[in-house]
Amino acid sequence: MLKRNYNSRKRILVTGGAGFLGSHLCDRLLESGAEVLCVDNLFTGTKRNIEHLLGNPRFEFLRHDVTIPLYVEVDEIYNLACPASPIHYQHDPVQTTKTSVHGAINMLGLARRLKCPILQASTSEVYGDALVSPQAEGYWGNVNPIGVRSCYDEGKRCAETLFFDYNRQHGLPIKVVRIFNTYGPRMHPQDGRVVSNFIRQALYDEDITIYGDGSQTRSFCYVDELIDGMIRMMGTEENFTGPVNLGNPQECTVKQLAEMIVAQTGSRSQLVSRELPSDDPVQRRPDIALARAHLDWEPSVELSQGIARTIAYFEDLLGKKSRQMQS
Ligand code: NAD
Ligand code: UDP
Ligand code: UDP
Repeated sequence: MLKRNYNSRKRILVTGGAGFLGSHLCDRLLESGAEVLCVDNLFTGTKRNIEHLLGNPRFEFLRHDVTIPLYVEVDEIYNLACPASPIHYQHDPVQTTKTSVHGAINMLGLARRLKCPILQASTSEVYGDALVSPQAEGYWGNVNPIGVRSCYDEGKRCAETLFFDYNRQHGLPIKVVRIFNTYGPRMHPQDGRVVSNFIRQALYDEDITIYGDGSQTRSFCYVDELIDGMIRMMGTEENFTGPVNLGNPQECTVKQLAEMIVAQTGSRSQLVSRELPSDDPVQRRPDIALARAHLDWEPSVELSQGIARTIAYFEDLLGKKSRQMQS
């Protein structure tokens, strides 16, 4: 492996490093002794997520948009820059596609010049409204190319195409992980995602908004375990490119999640039904056989445990204490 500086430390670029997953990844890479260059335009990320790192001499933050070329010297790249929650990625859908596609081209161009490995944070959304369950990597997906979610889904699919073409055409070492719904501390409280919405609503005793009848399923992975999977993936032998699913196969309905959060917070919130957004996948659950085999990776944090930790984070952030905690 080429070293881009004169000491023995690896210098690692994390795009989207001030976001939810990216900031945890920066933490873990710094803990492993690496130098970290965090690149983020702070669209959905925040300096608060990385403020504890700003005094670390091995950490550097660069405010930059990945749709613009970037010339830096690093040994490895994790490409996470992209808004990830539906309300954020639908806010400026053209910019979302540009971030995925132009961002991937620029980061792949950078990796190509540096001849360094690059990992793409892809998503279970490449499977769309899946017609098979659980979803294995060989499933090609059921994605609407012109719907309101398409800027994200198709942007991420095109990014995967670019990664594999840079690999085939230029011999670039690539790694692609398909991340399933992940939750935990540092989720954005206003990102509209189900875990953050329900916890925020429960802590304020507001109605819990169930879209549709709440029978749709998701499989939620605790953030620490997800990050561990990403780092393991980067460490695999060069010819293992993925794509590999990373997620917790424990599936639950949206209604079950709401009931768990109400019970854990001791909230007076009522569950209310709201219109189901279009193209909302009915069922999502990862087949993680490939991750088990190649990464020796398997999540073990129970949803109830992880939700308790996430509630504690939101209580701190929002200055709220749940009734159960007070009593
Ligand atoms: P996030 O919104 O918290 O983080 C994304 C980060 O990218 C933010 O800090 C944002 O400011 C930054 N960003 C957005 N556009 C940018 C641009 N043009 N240039 C530079 N920075 C930009 O979301 P997250 O949940 O941490 O997701 C991180 C990555 O993981 C994303 O690529 C997302 O698609 C992927 N992913 C996340 C999940 C999940 O459940 N959290 C699931 C599947 C895939
Ligand atoms: N690029 C970059 N940093 C680099 C090298 C390239 O941002 O260190 C960008 C550059 O803008 C280019 C893109 O990556 O348009 C793709 O680069 P590549 O060399 O693959 O193809 P090019 O478009 O230069 O033929
Ligand atoms: N959802 C819900 N109420 C909310 C937010 C989301 O019922 O307040 C549902 C949403 O319709 C979807 C699931 O929860 O079926 C997960 O939504 P999220 O936006 O977290 O992730 P994604 O749809 O991208 O998996």
